[in-house]
Amino acid sequence: MDPTLTMFISIVATSGVFTTFLCMYTFIKRKEIPGAYTFVIYTATQAIYIFAHAFEMASDSITEVKIWTIFEYVGIGAAPAIGLLIVMQYIGLKLTRRKVIALLLIPAITFIMVITNDYHHFFYKDIYFRENAPFPTTDVVIGQYYIIHGAYIFGCMLAAVVLLLRRWRQTKKAYRLQLATLIMGQFLPMTGAFVYLMGLTPYGIDPVPMILCITSAMYIWSMVSTRMLTVIPIAKDRIFESMREGAVVLDSADRLVDFNGAISSMFPGLTTDMLGLTLDEAWIRLSGTPFPVERTQDGTQEEFVWRDASGNEFFYQTRSSVVLGSSSESIGSLLMLIDVTEQKLLQDQLKQLAYYDGLTKLLNRTEFIRRSKVVLEEDQLGERSTCILLFDIDHFKSINDTYGHDVGDMAIQHVVAIAKRVEADVPGVLIARYGGEEFVIALPSCLLDSAILLAEQIRAQFAAEPITGNHGPITVTASFGLAQATPHAATLEMLLKNADVALYQAKRAGRNRVCVFDQRLEVLINT
Ligand code: GH3
Ligand code: MG
Ligand code: MG
Repeated sequence: MDPTLTMFISIVATSGVFTTFLCMYTFIKRKEIPGAYTFVIYTATQAIYIFAHAFEMASDSITEVKIWTIFEYVGIGAAPAIGLLIVMQYIGLKLTRRKVIALLLIPAITFIMVITNDYHHFFYKDIYFRENAPFPTTDVVIGQYYIIHGAYIFGCMLAAVVLLLRRWRQTKKAYRLQLATLIMGQFLPMTGAFVYLMGLTPYGIDPVPMILCITSAMYIWSMVSTRMLTVIPIAKDRIFESMREGAVVLDSADRLVDFNGAISSMFPGLTTDMLGLTLDEAWIRLSGTPFPVERTQDGTQEEFVWRDASGNEFFYQTRSSVVLGSSSESIGSLLMLIDVTEQKLLQDQLKQLAYYDGLTKLLNRTEFIRRSKVVLEEDQLGERSTCILLFDIDHFKSINDTYGHDVGDMAIQHVVAIAKRVEADVPGVLIARYGGEEFVIALPSCLLDSAILLAEQIRAQFAAEPITGNHGPITVTASFGLAQATPHAATLEMLLKNADVALYQAKRAGRNRVCVFDQRLEVLINT
Protein backbone atom coordinates (compact mmCIF):
# COMPACT_ATOMS: atom_id res chain seq x y z
CA MET A 1 0.00 0.00 0.00
CA ASP A 2 1.13 3.51 -0.76
CA PRO A 3 2.79 5.06 2.32
CA THR A 4 0.80 8.33 1.93
CA LEU A 5 -2.44 6.36 1.87
CA THR A 6 -1.31 4.36 4.90
CA MET A 7 -0.69 7.65 6.71
CA PHE A 8 -4.13 9.01 5.79
CA ILE A 9 -5.81 5.77 6.85
CA SER A 10 -3.90 5.83 10.15
CA ILE A 11 -5.03 9.42 10.87
CA VAL A 12 -8.63 8.49 10.04
CA ALA A 13 -8.44 5.38 12.25
CA THR A 14 -7.03 7.47 15.12
CA SER A 15 -9.91 9.86 14.64
CA GLY A 16 -12.27 6.89 14.84
CA VAL A 17 -10.67 5.75 18.10
CA PHE A 18 -11.00 9.25 19.62
CA THR A 19 -14.63 9.51 18.58
CA THR A 20 -15.41 6.03 19.91
CA PHE A 21 -13.72 6.95 23.18
CA LEU A 22 -15.80 10.16 23.36
CA CYS A 23 -18.94 8.13 22.71
CA MET A 24 -18.10 5.63 25.47
CA TYR A 25 -17.04 8.34 27.92
CA THR A 26 -20.34 10.16 27.45
CA PHE A 27 -22.24 6.89 27.85
CA ILE A 28 -20.46 6.07 31.11
CA LYS A 29 -21.01 9.59 32.45
CA ARG A 30 -24.57 9.76 31.09
CA LYS A 31 -26.08 10.34 34.54
CA GLU A 32 -24.10 13.57 34.98
CA ILE A 33 -24.61 14.90 31.48
CA PRO A 34 -27.95 16.37 30.52
CA GLY A 35 -29.01 15.15 27.08
CA ALA A 36 -26.18 12.56 27.11
CA TYR A 37 -28.03 10.08 24.89
CA THR A 38 -28.23 12.54 22.00
CA PHE A 39 -24.48 13.08 22.31
CA VAL A 40 -23.85 9.32 22.44
CA ILE A 41 -25.86 8.77 19.25
CA TYR A 42 -24.09 11.75 17.66
CA THR A 43 -20.62 10.43 18.32
CA ALA A 44 -21.63 6.84 17.48
CA THR A 45 -22.83 7.87 14.01
CA GLN A 46 -19.61 9.86 13.55
CA ALA A 47 -17.51 6.84 14.57
CA ILE A 48 -19.35 4.59 12.10
CA TYR A 49 -18.71 7.19 9.39
CA ILE A 50 -15.03 7.49 10.24
CA PHE A 51 -14.26 3.77 10.37
CA ALA A 52 -16.30 3.09 7.23
CA HIS A 53 -14.28 5.83 5.57
CA ALA A 54 -11.02 4.17 6.61
CA PHE A 55 -12.24 0.88 5.14
CA GLU A 56 -13.37 2.67 2.01
CA MET A 57 -9.89 4.16 1.58
CA ALA A 58 -8.37 0.71 1.95
CA SER A 59 -10.74 -0.87 -0.60
CA ASP A 60 -9.45 -1.93 -3.93
CA SER A 61 -12.67 -2.68 -5.75
CA ILE A 62 -15.63 -0.42 -6.51
CA THR A 63 -18.01 -3.02 -5.05
CA GLU A 64 -16.22 -2.77 -1.71
CA VAL A 65 -16.19 1.04 -1.93
CA LYS A 66 -19.95 1.04 -2.50
CA ILE A 67 -20.56 -1.14 0.57
CA TRP A 68 -18.46 1.08 2.82
CA THR A 69 -20.14 4.17 1.38
CA ILE A 70 -23.49 2.88 2.66
CA PHE A 71 -22.01 2.64 6.18
CA GLU A 72 -20.46 6.09 5.83
CA TYR A 73 -23.84 7.67 5.15
CA VAL A 74 -25.18 6.55 8.53
CA GLY A 75 -22.93 9.28 9.89
CA ILE A 76 -22.63 11.75 7.02
CA GLY A 77 -26.40 12.05 6.74
CA ALA A 78 -27.46 11.96 10.39
CA ALA A 79 -24.58 13.48 12.40
CA PRO A 80 -25.03 17.12 11.27
CA ALA A 81 -28.77 17.00 12.06
CA ILE A 82 -28.13 15.36 15.46
CA GLY A 83 -25.40 17.97 16.09
CA LEU A 84 -27.98 20.68 15.49
CA LEU A 85 -30.33 18.94 17.94
CA ILE A 86 -27.57 18.95 20.58
CA VAL A 87 -26.98 22.66 20.05
CA MET A 88 -30.70 23.38 20.27
CA GLN A 89 -30.85 21.43 23.52
CA TYR A 90 -27.80 23.23 24.86
CA ILE A 91 -29.16 26.72 24.28
CA GLY A 92 -32.46 25.77 25.87
CA LEU A 93 -34.75 25.40 22.88
CA LYS A 94 -37.48 22.91 23.57
CA LEU A 95 -37.15 19.78 21.44
CA THR A 96 -40.50 18.36 20.52
CA ARG A 97 -40.95 14.96 18.91
CA ARG A 98 -42.08 16.79 15.76
CA LYS A 99 -38.93 18.91 15.56
CA VAL A 100 -36.72 15.84 15.98
CA ILE A 101 -38.59 13.87 13.31
CA ALA A 102 -38.54 16.86 10.92
CA LEU A 103 -34.78 17.26 11.32
CA LEU A 104 -34.07 13.57 10.79
CA LEU A 105 -36.33 13.18 7.77
CA ILE A 106 -33.77 14.21 5.13
CA PRO A 107 -30.97 12.03 6.66
CA ALA A 108 -33.37 9.06 6.54
CA ILE A 109 -34.18 9.76 2.88
CA THR A 110 -30.47 10.19 2.14
CA PHE A 111 -29.71 6.79 3.62
CA ILE A 112 -32.44 5.12 1.54
CA MET A 113 -31.13 6.94 -1.53
CA VAL A 114 -27.60 5.66 -0.91
CA ILE A 115 -28.70 2.05 -0.39
CA THR A 116 -30.86 2.07 -3.51
CA ASN A 117 -28.57 4.21 -5.67
CA ASP A 118 -27.83 1.41 -8.14
CA TYR A 119 -31.49 1.42 -9.16
CA HIS A 120 -31.99 5.15 -9.76
CA HIS A 121 -28.59 6.88 -9.65
CA PHE A 122 -30.16 9.96 -8.07
CA PHE A 123 -27.52 10.11 -5.40
CA TYR A 124 -24.39 9.57 -7.47
CA LYS A 125 -24.32 8.89 -11.14
CA ASP A 126 -20.99 7.11 -11.06
CA ILE A 127 -18.24 6.18 -8.64
CA TYR A 128 -14.78 5.36 -9.90
CA PHE A 129 -11.07 5.31 -8.96
CA ARG A 130 -9.16 8.45 -9.92
CA GLU A 131 -6.63 7.76 -12.59
CA ASN A 132 -3.78 10.17 -11.92
CA ALA A 133 -3.67 9.79 -8.11
CA PRO A 134 -0.54 8.34 -6.51
CA PHE A 135 -2.76 5.90 -4.59
CA PRO A 136 -6.29 4.58 -5.22
CA THR A 137 -8.87 7.23 -4.25
CA THR A 138 -12.44 7.36 -5.43
CA ASP A 139 -14.35 10.17 -7.10
CA VAL A 140 -18.06 10.47 -7.67
CA VAL A 141 -20.22 12.03 -10.33
CA ILE A 142 -22.99 13.48 -8.21
CA GLY A 143 -26.70 13.00 -8.87
CA GLN A 144 -29.60 15.41 -8.28
CA TYR A 145 -30.33 14.23 -4.75
CA TYR A 146 -26.71 14.69 -3.71
CA ILE A 147 -27.24 18.47 -3.97
CA ILE A 148 -30.20 18.32 -1.54
CA HIS A 149 -28.15 16.20 0.87
CA GLY A 150 -25.08 18.46 0.59
CA ALA A 151 -27.12 21.62 1.13
CA TYR A 152 -28.94 20.06 4.07
CA ILE A 153 -25.92 18.89 6.05
CA PHE A 154 -24.16 22.16 5.34
CA GLY A 155 -27.29 24.06 6.44
CA CYS A 156 -27.54 22.05 9.69
CA MET A 157 -23.94 22.80 10.65
CA LEU A 158 -24.28 26.46 9.68
CA ALA A 159 -27.51 26.79 11.70
CA ALA A 160 -25.77 25.21 14.70
CA VAL A 161 -22.83 27.62 14.42
CA VAL A 162 -25.15 30.64 14.09
CA LEU A 163 -27.28 29.58 17.08
CA LEU A 164 -24.16 29.17 19.21
CA LEU A 165 -22.57 32.44 18.06
CA ARG A 166 -25.73 34.34 18.96
CA ARG A 167 -25.30 33.08 22.53
CA TRP A 168 -21.74 34.33 22.80
CA ARG A 169 -22.48 37.76 24.27
CA GLN A 170 -25.00 36.51 26.84
CA THR A 171 -22.76 33.67 27.95
CA LYS A 172 -20.79 34.19 31.14
CA LYS A 173 -16.99 33.95 30.78
CA ALA A 174 -16.90 30.70 32.74
CA TYR A 175 -18.98 28.98 30.07
CA ARG A 176 -17.28 30.51 27.01
CA LEU A 177 -14.75 27.66 26.67
CA GLN A 178 -17.46 25.06 26.36
CA LEU A 179 -19.37 27.31 23.99
CA ALA A 180 -16.20 27.73 21.89
CA THR A 181 -15.70 23.95 21.85
CA LEU A 182 -19.24 23.46 20.62
CA ILE A 183 -18.78 26.16 17.97
CA MET A 184 -15.54 24.59 16.72
CA GLY A 185 -17.17 21.15 16.87
CA GLN A 186 -19.59 22.41 14.23
CA PHE A 187 -17.49 24.98 12.40
CA LEU A 188 -14.44 22.80 11.60
CA PRO A 189 -16.34 19.87 10.00
CA MET A 190 -18.53 22.42 8.19
CA THR A 191 -15.48 24.10 6.67
CA GLY A 192 -13.97 20.69 5.82
CA ALA A 193 -17.22 19.58 4.15
CA PHE A 194 -17.34 22.85 2.23
CA VAL A 195 -13.80 22.52 0.93
CA TYR A 196 -14.43 18.88 0.03
CA LEU A 197 -17.73 19.58 -1.74
CA MET A 198 -16.01 22.36 -3.71
CA GLY A 199 -13.45 19.77 -4.87
CA LEU A 200 -10.58 21.71 -3.33
CA THR A 201 -8.92 18.90 -1.35
CA PRO A 202 -5.83 17.10 -2.75
CA TYR A 203 -6.77 13.92 -4.66
CA GLY A 204 -10.41 14.51 -3.64
CA ILE A 205 -9.75 13.24 -0.11
CA ASP A 206 -12.59 13.83 2.37
CA PRO A 207 -10.95 15.79 5.21
CA VAL A 208 -13.92 15.59 7.61
CA PRO A 209 -12.97 12.26 9.26
CA MET A 210 -9.51 13.70 10.03
CA ILE A 211 -11.03 16.96 11.29
CA LEU A 212 -13.28 14.97 13.60
CA CYS A 213 -10.06 13.72 15.22
CA ILE A 214 -9.39 17.33 16.31
CA THR A 215 -12.96 18.09 17.38
CA SER A 216 -13.30 14.82 19.33
CA ALA A 217 -10.00 15.54 21.09
CA MET A 218 -11.30 19.02 21.95
CA TYR A 219 -14.53 17.58 23.34
CA ILE A 220 -12.64 15.03 25.45
CA TRP A 221 -10.32 17.71 26.81
CA SER A 222 -13.22 20.08 27.50
CA MET A 223 -15.25 17.42 29.25
CA VAL A 224 -12.41 16.24 31.43
CA SER A 225 -10.97 19.65 32.27
CA THR A 226 -13.99 21.97 32.46
CA ARG A 227 -16.80 19.53 33.11
CA MET A 228 -18.21 20.58 29.80
CA LEU A 229 -21.85 19.65 29.22
CA THR A 230 -22.21 18.54 32.83
CA VAL A 231 -22.63 22.16 33.94
CA ILE A 232 -24.80 23.83 31.38
CA PRO A 233 -25.86 27.44 31.67
CA ILE A 234 -29.61 27.35 31.31
CA ALA A 235 -30.88 30.00 28.94
CA LYS A 236 -32.51 32.85 30.86
CA ASP A 237 -35.55 32.94 28.63
CA ARG A 238 -36.20 29.27 29.44
CA ILE A 239 -36.14 30.12 33.14
CA PHE A 240 -38.50 33.03 32.50
CA GLU A 241 -40.84 30.76 30.54
CA SER A 242 -40.83 27.88 32.99
CA MET A 243 -41.31 29.92 36.18
CA ARG A 244 -44.41 28.91 38.12
CA GLU A 245 -44.95 32.54 39.10
CA GLY A 246 -46.38 34.86 36.53
CA ALA A 247 -43.91 37.52 35.40
CA VAL A 248 -44.71 40.67 33.44
CA VAL A 249 -41.98 42.98 32.14
CA LEU A 250 -43.00 46.63 31.80
CA ASP A 251 -41.04 49.52 30.33
CA SER A 252 -40.58 52.87 32.06
CA ALA A 253 -43.90 54.09 30.61
CA ASP A 254 -45.60 51.04 32.15
CA ARG A 255 -46.16 49.43 28.76
CA LEU A 256 -46.17 45.64 28.41
CA VAL A 257 -42.84 44.42 27.04
CA ASP A 258 -43.09 40.71 27.76
CA PHE A 259 -44.87 38.15 29.91
CA ASN A 260 -44.21 34.48 30.56
CA GLY A 261 -46.15 31.28 30.04
CA ALA A 262 -47.48 31.29 33.61
CA ILE A 263 -49.20 34.63 32.92
CA SER A 264 -50.75 33.21 29.74
CA SER A 265 -52.26 30.33 31.69
CA MET A 266 -53.43 32.61 34.52
CA PHE A 267 -55.06 35.09 32.13
CA PRO A 268 -55.70 33.39 28.76
CA GLY A 269 -57.22 36.64 27.48
CA LEU A 270 -53.85 38.39 27.74
CA THR A 271 -52.30 37.87 24.31
CA THR A 272 -49.10 39.01 22.66
CA ASP A 273 -50.96 41.51 20.49
CA MET A 274 -51.50 43.50 23.71
CA LEU A 275 -47.73 44.07 24.01
CA GLY A 276 -47.14 47.80 23.78
CA LEU A 277 -50.34 48.69 25.67
CA THR A 278 -49.96 50.04 29.19
CA LEU A 279 -50.75 47.55 31.94
CA ASP A 280 -53.98 49.41 32.73
CA GLU A 281 -55.07 49.48 29.09
CA ALA A 282 -54.39 45.76 28.77
CA TRP A 283 -56.24 45.05 32.02
CA ILE A 284 -59.26 47.09 30.90
CA ARG A 285 -59.42 44.91 27.77
CA LEU A 286 -59.09 41.85 29.94
CA SER A 287 -61.53 42.62 32.71
CA GLY A 288 -63.10 46.03 32.14
CA THR A 289 -61.15 47.69 34.97
CA PRO A 290 -57.59 49.04 35.34
CA PHE A 291 -55.01 46.84 37.09
CA PRO A 292 -56.47 46.42 40.60
CA VAL A 293 -53.31 46.85 42.63
CA GLU A 294 -51.33 50.01 43.33
CA ARG A 295 -47.72 49.12 42.53
CA THR A 296 -44.88 50.28 44.70
CA GLN A 297 -41.23 49.43 44.21
CA ASP A 298 -40.50 48.81 47.88
CA GLY A 299 -41.29 45.12 47.70
CA THR A 300 -44.66 45.35 49.46
CA GLN A 301 -47.00 42.55 48.56
CA GLU A 302 -50.59 43.22 47.62
CA GLU A 303 -53.37 40.85 46.77
CA PHE A 304 -56.25 40.92 44.34
CA VAL A 305 -59.07 38.61 43.35
CA TRP A 306 -59.54 37.44 39.78
CA ARG A 307 -62.67 35.79 38.43
CA ASP A 308 -62.17 33.67 35.32
CA ALA A 309 -64.72 33.21 32.53
CA SER A 310 -66.49 30.41 34.46
CA GLY A 311 -66.70 32.54 37.60
CA ASN A 312 -63.97 30.70 39.57
CA GLU A 313 -62.17 32.93 42.04
CA PHE A 314 -58.37 33.12 42.10
CA PHE A 315 -56.26 35.11 44.53
CA TYR A 316 -53.01 36.61 43.31
CA GLN A 317 -50.26 38.22 45.31
CA THR A 318 -48.29 40.86 43.41
CA ARG A 319 -44.75 42.08 43.88
CA SER A 320 -43.09 44.71 41.76
CA SER A 321 -39.39 45.46 41.36
CA VAL A 322 -37.37 47.93 39.32
CA VAL A 323 -35.39 46.72 36.31
CA LEU A 324 -32.07 48.57 36.11
CA GLY A 325 -30.22 49.39 32.92
CA SER A 326 -26.47 48.99 32.39
CA SER A 327 -25.72 52.32 34.12
CA SER A 328 -28.10 51.54 36.99
CA GLU A 329 -30.89 53.76 35.71
CA SER A 330 -34.46 52.48 35.92
CA ILE A 331 -35.59 51.15 32.55
CA GLY A 332 -38.81 49.49 33.63
CA SER A 333 -40.21 47.11 36.14
CA LEU A 334 -40.89 43.44 36.71
CA LEU A 335 -44.29 42.54 38.06
CA MET A 336 -44.57 39.12 39.66
CA LEU A 337 -47.93 37.46 40.23
CA ILE A 338 -48.11 34.52 42.59
CA ASP A 339 -51.18 32.33 42.76
CA VAL A 340 -52.12 32.20 46.47
CA THR A 341 -55.61 30.75 45.98
CA GLU A 342 -54.80 27.53 47.81
CA GLN A 343 -53.23 29.31 50.78
CA LYS A 344 -56.17 31.70 50.88
CA LEU A 345 -58.69 28.83 50.95
CA LEU A 346 -56.64 27.07 53.61
CA GLN A 347 -56.54 30.28 55.64
CA ASP A 348 -60.31 30.59 55.30
CA GLN A 349 -60.72 26.99 56.45
CA LEU A 350 -58.43 27.57 59.43
CA LYS A 351 -60.34 30.75 60.26
CA GLN A 352 -63.58 28.79 60.04
CA LEU A 353 -62.18 26.18 62.42
CA ALA A 354 -60.72 28.76 64.80
CA TYR A 355 -63.64 31.20 64.93
CA TYR A 356 -66.75 29.19 64.16
CA ASP A 357 -68.66 26.25 65.52
CA GLY A 358 -68.87 23.25 63.17
CA LEU A 359 -72.50 22.24 63.73
CA THR A 360 -74.20 25.62 63.70
CA LYS A 361 -71.62 27.75 61.85
CA LEU A 362 -72.15 30.35 64.59
CA LEU A 363 -69.21 32.10 66.26
CA ASN A 364 -67.62 30.00 68.96
CA ARG A 365 -67.40 31.15 72.56
CA THR A 366 -63.81 32.49 72.34
CA GLU A 367 -64.42 34.54 69.22
CA PHE A 368 -67.72 35.80 70.62
CA ILE A 369 -65.99 37.07 73.74
CA ARG A 370 -63.26 38.78 71.70
CA ARG A 371 -65.71 40.56 69.41
CA SER A 372 -68.27 41.43 72.11
CA LYS A 373 -65.60 43.14 74.16
CA VAL A 374 -64.98 45.48 71.22
CA VAL A 375 -68.73 46.09 70.83
CA LEU A 376 -69.09 46.82 74.55
CA GLU A 377 -66.17 49.25 74.56
CA GLU A 378 -67.53 51.13 71.56
CA ASP A 379 -70.99 51.37 73.13
CA GLN A 380 -69.52 52.58 76.39
CA LEU A 381 -67.50 55.23 74.58
CA GLY A 382 -70.60 56.36 72.71
CA GLU A 383 -72.67 56.11 75.92
CA ARG A 384 -75.00 53.60 74.32
CA SER A 385 -76.64 50.61 75.94
CA THR A 386 -75.50 47.03 75.31
CA CYS A 387 -77.54 43.95 76.17
CA ILE A 388 -76.52 40.32 76.44
CA LEU A 389 -79.07 37.57 75.96
CA LEU A 390 -78.29 33.99 76.99
CA PHE A 391 -80.60 31.08 76.23
CA ASP A 392 -80.56 27.35 76.86
CA ILE A 393 -82.83 24.69 75.34
CA ASP A 394 -85.29 23.22 77.84
CA HIS A 395 -85.05 19.53 78.72
CA PHE A 396 -82.64 18.96 75.90
CA LYS A 397 -81.36 15.78 77.46
CA SER A 398 -84.77 14.22 77.07
CA ILE A 399 -84.83 15.12 73.34
CA ASN A 400 -81.51 13.32 72.98
CA ASP A 401 -82.68 10.40 75.09
CA THR A 402 -86.03 10.03 73.34
CA TYR A 403 -85.09 10.62 69.70
CA GLY A 404 -81.33 10.17 69.60
CA HIS A 405 -78.41 12.53 69.10
CA ASP A 406 -79.17 13.19 65.42
CA VAL A 407 -82.52 14.68 66.29
CA GLY A 408 -80.79 16.54 69.14
CA ASP A 409 -78.48 18.07 66.57
CA MET A 410 -81.44 18.95 64.38
CA ALA A 411 -83.09 20.67 67.34
CA ILE A 412 -79.96 22.75 67.87
CA GLN A 413 -79.88 23.77 64.18
CA HIS A 414 -83.61 24.49 64.28
CA VAL A 415 -83.39 26.97 67.17
CA VAL A 416 -80.31 28.61 65.61
CA ALA A 417 -82.17 29.15 62.32
CA ILE A 418 -85.08 30.81 64.15
CA ALA A 419 -82.82 32.97 66.31
CA LYS A 420 -80.87 34.14 63.25
CA ARG A 421 -84.06 34.98 61.40
CA VAL A 422 -85.38 37.13 64.22
CA GLU A 423 -82.05 38.83 64.78
CA ALA A 424 -81.47 39.50 61.08
CA ASP A 425 -82.71 43.11 61.37
CA VAL A 426 -80.59 44.04 64.39
CA PRO A 427 -77.46 45.86 63.19
CA GLY A 428 -74.15 44.57 64.56
CA VAL A 429 -75.71 41.66 66.42
CA LEU A 430 -73.40 38.79 67.40
CA ILE A 431 -74.80 35.28 67.91
CA ALA A 432 -72.63 32.48 69.22
CA ARG A 433 -72.82 28.92 70.47
CA TYR A 434 -71.89 29.41 74.10
CA GLY A 435 -71.93 25.74 75.11
CA GLY A 436 -73.66 22.47 74.07
CA GLU A 437 -77.24 23.74 73.72
CA GLU A 438 -76.66 27.14 75.18
CA PHE A 439 -76.42 30.26 73.00
CA VAL A 440 -75.53 33.88 73.55
CA ILE A 441 -76.52 37.02 71.69
CA ALA A 442 -74.82 40.42 72.02
CA LEU A 443 -77.09 43.32 71.13
CA PRO A 444 -75.09 46.49 70.49
CA SER A 445 -76.74 49.92 70.89
CA CYS A 446 -79.86 48.22 72.20
CA LEU A 447 -82.06 49.44 75.05
CA LEU A 448 -83.40 46.93 77.54
CA ASP A 449 -87.02 47.29 76.39
CA SER A 450 -86.14 46.44 72.79
CA ALA A 451 -83.97 43.54 74.00
CA ILE A 452 -86.87 42.14 76.06
CA LEU A 453 -89.11 42.43 73.02
CA LEU A 454 -86.63 40.59 70.87
CA ALA A 455 -86.04 37.84 73.40
CA GLU A 456 -89.77 37.38 73.78
CA GLN A 457 -90.14 37.18 70.01
CA ILE A 458 -87.53 34.43 69.75
CA ARG A 459 -88.99 32.50 72.65
CA ALA A 460 -92.48 32.67 71.12
CA GLN A 461 -91.20 31.53 67.72
CA PHE A 462 -89.44 28.53 69.32
CA ALA A 463 -92.65 27.50 71.01
CA ALA A 464 -94.73 28.07 67.89
CA GLU A 465 -92.53 26.23 65.39
CA PRO A 466 -91.97 22.58 66.25
CA ILE A 467 -89.38 20.50 64.38
CA THR A 468 -91.02 18.33 61.78
CA GLY A 469 -89.71 15.00 60.61
CA ASN A 470 -90.59 11.30 60.44
CA HIS A 471 -90.77 11.20 64.24
CA GLY A 472 -93.69 13.71 64.27
CA PRO A 473 -93.59 17.34 65.45
CA ILE A 474 -91.32 18.08 68.43
CA THR A 475 -91.71 21.39 70.20
CA VAL A 476 -88.43 22.81 71.39
CA THR A 477 -88.60 25.60 73.94
CA ALA A 478 -85.82 27.53 75.61
CA SER A 479 -85.26 29.70 78.67
CA PHE A 480 -83.72 33.17 78.35
CA GLY A 481 -81.63 35.35 80.65
CA LEU A 482 -81.13 38.99 79.73
CA ALA A 483 -78.66 41.52 81.16
CA GLN A 484 -77.94 45.15 80.33
CA ALA A 485 -74.60 46.86 80.80
CA THR A 486 -74.69 49.42 83.62
CA PRO A 487 -72.02 51.33 85.51
CA HIS A 488 -72.18 48.49 88.06
CA ALA A 489 -71.93 45.74 85.43
CA ALA A 490 -69.50 47.25 82.99
CA THR A 491 -67.38 44.31 81.93
CA LEU A 492 -68.40 41.55 79.56
CA GLU A 493 -67.63 38.94 82.22
CA MET A 494 -70.05 40.60 84.63
CA LEU A 495 -72.70 40.95 81.96
CA LEU A 496 -72.43 37.28 81.05
CA LYS A 497 -72.57 36.31 84.72
CA ASN A 498 -75.70 38.42 85.24
CA ALA A 499 -77.37 36.97 82.12
CA ASP A 500 -76.55 33.49 83.44
CA VAL A 501 -78.16 34.31 86.80
CA ALA A 502 -81.26 35.51 84.94
CA LEU A 503 -81.27 32.33 82.80
CA TYR A 504 -81.04 30.17 85.91
CA GLN A 505 -84.00 32.07 87.31
CA ALA A 506 -85.99 31.45 84.09
CA LYS A 507 -85.32 27.73 84.45
CA ARG A 508 -86.36 27.77 88.07
CA ALA A 509 -89.50 29.71 87.28
CA GLY A 510 -90.70 26.91 84.98
CA ARG A 511 -88.68 27.31 81.72
CA ASN A 512 -89.86 28.67 78.34
CA ARG A 513 -89.63 32.25 79.58
CA VAL A 514 -87.44 35.35 79.55
CA CYS A 515 -85.93 36.71 82.78
CA VAL A 516 -84.11 40.03 83.13
CA PHE A 517 -81.34 40.61 85.61
CA ASP A 518 -82.25 43.72 87.59
CA GLN A 519 -79.33 45.70 88.91
CA ARG A 520 -81.20 48.23 91.15
CA LEU A 521 -82.96 45.73 93.31
CA GLU A 522 -80.29 43.04 92.91
CA VAL A 523 -83.25 40.69 92.52
CA LEU A 524 -84.71 39.00 89.48
CA ILE A 525 -87.92 40.25 88.05
CA ASN A 526 -89.93 37.79 86.11
CA THR A 527 -91.17 39.46 82.95
P1 GH3 B 1 -82.49 22.10 81.14
O1 GH3 B 1 -83.87 22.34 80.71
O2 GH3 B 1 -82.26 22.22 82.60
O3 GH3 B 1 -81.48 22.87 80.34
O4 GH3 B 1 -82.28 20.56 80.83
P2 GH3 B 1 -81.32 19.94 79.79
O5 GH3 B 1 -81.73 18.53 79.53
O6 GH3 B 1 -81.24 20.79 78.56
O7 GH3 B 1 -80.00 19.91 80.62
P3 GH3 B 1 -78.51 20.21 80.25
O8 GH3 B 1 -78.33 21.59 79.76
O9 GH3 B 1 -77.66 19.78 81.40
O10 GH3 B 1 -78.24 19.15 79.08
C1 GH3 B 1 -77.50 19.44 77.96
C2 GH3 B 1 -77.32 18.20 77.14
O11 GH3 B 1 -77.05 18.55 75.81
C3 GH3 B 1 -76.19 17.35 77.62
C4 GH3 B 1 -75.44 16.98 76.33
O12 GH3 B 1 -75.40 15.57 76.19
C5 GH3 B 1 -76.28 17.53 75.21
N1 GH3 B 1 -75.51 18.10 74.18
C6 GH3 B 1 -74.53 19.03 74.29
N2 GH3 B 1 -74.06 19.35 73.04
C7 GH3 B 1 -74.76 18.58 72.14
C8 GH3 B 1 -74.74 18.45 70.72
O13 GH3 B 1 -73.97 19.10 70.01
N3 GH3 B 1 -75.63 17.60 70.15
C9 GH3 B 1 -76.48 16.85 70.88
N4 GH3 B 1 -77.33 16.03 70.27
N5 GH3 B 1 -76.50 16.94 72.22
C10 GH3 B 1 -75.67 17.78 72.86
MG1 MG C 1 -80.70 22.75 78.52
MG1 MG D 1 -77.29 23.49 79.09
